[in-house]
Amino acid sequence: MRYYNYLYLALIAAFLISCSGNGVDKASQSITEDGIKEYIAVLASDDFQGRFPGTLGEEKTIHYLSEQFSSLGLLPGNGDSYFQEVPLMKITPETDFTLNISGKKGSLTLQYGPDFIGGTPTPTEKVNISGSDVIFVGYGINAPEYQWNDYEGLDVRGKTVVMLVNDPGYATQDSALFTGNAMTYYGRWVYKYEEAARQGAAAAILVHETKAASYPWGVVENSFKGTKFYLTSDPITKSELLLQSWITNDNARKLFQMAGLDFDATTQMAAQRGFKPIEMKLKASASYSNRVEYMSSNNVIALLPGSSRKDEYIIYTAHWDHLGVNPALKGDSIFNGALDNASGTAALLEIAKAFKSLGKVQDRSVLFMSVTCEEQGLLGSHYYAENPIYPLNKTVAVINMDALNIFGRTHDMAISGYGYNELDDYAKAVIESKGRYIVGDSRPESGGYYRSDHFSFAKVGVPSINISFGSDNVEHGKEWAETTLLKWIMDNYHKPSDNYEPETWKFDGMVEDVQVYFELGYKLSTTDHFPNWREGTFYKPIRDAMMK
Ligand SMILES: [Zn+2]
Repeated sequence: MRYYNYLYLALIAAFLISCSGNGVDKASQSITEDGIKEYIAVLASDDFQGRFPGTLGEEKTIHYLSEQFSSLGLLPGNGDSYFQEVPLMKITPETDFTLNISGKKGSLTLQYGPDFIGGTPTPTEKVNISGSDVIFVGYGINAPEYQWNDYEGLDVRGKTVVMLVNDPGYATQDSALFTGNAMTYYGRWVYKYEEAARQGAAAAILVHETKAASYPWGVVENSFKGTKFYLTSDPITKSELLLQSWITNDNARKLFQMAGLDFDATTQMAAQRGFKPIEMKLKASASYSNRVEYMSSNNVIALLPGSSRKDEYIIYTAHWDHLGVNPALKGDSIFNGALDNASGTAALLEIAKAFKSLGKVQDRSVLFMSVTCEEQGLLGSHYYAENPIYPLNKTVAVINMDALNIFGRTHDMAISGYGYNELDDYAKAVIESKGRYIVGDSRPESGGYYRSDHFSFAKVGVPSINISFGSDNVEHGKEWAETTLLKWIMDNYHKPSDNYEPETWKFDGMVEDVQVYFELGYKLSTTDHFPNWREGTFYKPIRDAMMK
């Protein structure tokens, strides 16, 4: 349901009239291609070693960022420090173990890497899963608000659950199930493992499917192979889950065949109401050892104090971390993460610079937060949201930037989770003032809303927005833009080839988008309004409770 507060729409209009011609336009124009390029070139350089948490790459990155903030004249955001330490548990499984499934019709030996990827989220040095009963739990979802529980009446303690990615709404494209095509949080792997752990499962096997996950198997391999990080405060680290794993679709089909089940028919059934979990009459075994270490990484936080409303905050977020180096790879082994997310981090610095170049100090304070461990499951932003340095009920809005536009100017920009909160209206006003337009998430089925740091703030009730680049390319049109983006994702997303390529990247669209982020934050910093979530969203009651 949409809810508009006409008073503040009027205020936005008044604001737009009042600000034209003052220092904002000039500050916005100070955001340039050269400025952004300079930052990306450093952050995505081989010298920064793929910016992996806890490595020399982190040290270089966070020092570079704090030095830039300091030289721009921003204050340390955490007392006298630019850093917020994030306590982590680091678990590194041996990577040559096998997952064995056996049944009456034979057995299947799955090899770590090509066949499956996984590990335990618990600090267990020697894992031994032996003959654990395998049970197919459909989508592995327990969602009271959608009257759906794949675990109903089931005791999976000590068992191995097999489940599918995404959710029944996506699978059936039925708008009456969950949220239809758009992925709910229940469709994300993070949720599925959490739920399996809450249910007491010993192992969880997630069946990979490129379309439903929206990325190919290679992304699973590159993103989740080997070391995984957890917040030491995460309940899953205290669970009994000894293996959380992804298996390839081909192997899943073999597994179903061994159980005498037709894969397509069974998985289709799992998306229908009334589906009952199926005992597969198979046993799962795996034994492997882990190296468990405790360490910390850092969020980098800089403060630009406001004037008349300086105890109220606008936060910009952009994750600095990426995937590091994989020495086992031949050729290019550094995951430079130029687009993901040196680009967003560069924008953070460029926007800080623009705020500093305003003729006068803005009313509300602005925080520039470059968070860690986004690639490990939004850990840095999650940690901040649970351990905020500034009160959440004084935090007006979060604007997240993750992977900016390298394909040229677009007429549109896309808001993931469009319609969730009133930040949409502010964004719309800014974007339309530039003769451009807003669209919703172009691929809501990929669950983009849950896949970057704005979601950590949404989860605790703080209105947050993630505006991605549009697909209505000024020069080449929509079809070209969509094909080009998909190709980019398949070729480069979470691969060593996400390199900084100033020769082929186009920066004109990026600059225009970053100007939008700046003006949106500026606009929010000058009003006294607290935008809220819209009626009927999961997040509104949480916000309302903290604002009382
Ligand atoms: Zn990212």
